Amino acid sequence: MYALILDSSAFIQGLDPQNEAAYTVPLVVEELRDGFIVARLRSMESTGRLKVVEPEESYLGIVEDESLRMGESQALSATDKQVLALGLQLRDNALEPIIVSDDYSVQNMADALGLGYKGLATPGIKRRFTWTLYCPGCRREFAEPQPDDVCPICGTGLKRRPSRKRGVTRRVGV
Ligand SMILES: [Zn+2]
Repeated sequence: MYALILDSSAFIQGLDPQNEAAYTVPLVVEELRDGFIVARLRSMESTGRLKVVEPEESYLGIVEDESLRMGESQALSATDKQVLALGLQLRDNALEPIIVSDDYSVQNMADALGLGYKGLATPGIKRRFTWTLYCPGCRREFAEPQPDDVCPICGTGLKRRPSRKRGVTRRVGV
C-alpha cells in the first residue's frame, strides 16, 4: 500500500491526495505559517486523510548517519530529516512510502535510502484533467468518444479540452 509523505511545499501547493494514505511530520506542521493552509491540514487530519506522525529516534539516527556519509547533513533541515525518517519507519510497517518534496537534497537522500520520492514541480503531478471532446465546427460537446474521432453531426475532427481540474497526485510506480 502506498503512503505519501508530504513536506511543507506539498501543503503550500495545495496537494490533497484522495487515493493514497497521506502522512506528514510534526515539524512540517510547525513550519506552516499560513492560517488557511494549517486549517486545511487540520481538516485533512480530522477526516482521516492525513496522519501526523513523529518518527522514532532510531530512524532519525539512520538518516543522520546516512546524510553525513552522503555529505548532505548540512543541506537537510530537521524537518527534512523527520520526513526521511518517517519514510524508513513506514517502510518497516509494510507500507510503500513515497516522499513528496521538491527539495533536491531530500530527493537525493530518499534515493540513497531506497525510498520512493516525487517532486511537486513534475508536470502533471499537481492536477489531473478530465477531458471534454468538442467539435470546433458546430461547437457541440461530447461526453463519449465518437467513431473515427469526428463529429457525427457535421463531420469535423473532434478536439479535446480539459473540463475539470482536481488536486490529486500521480501514483508512483503503478
Ligand atoms: Zn460538429
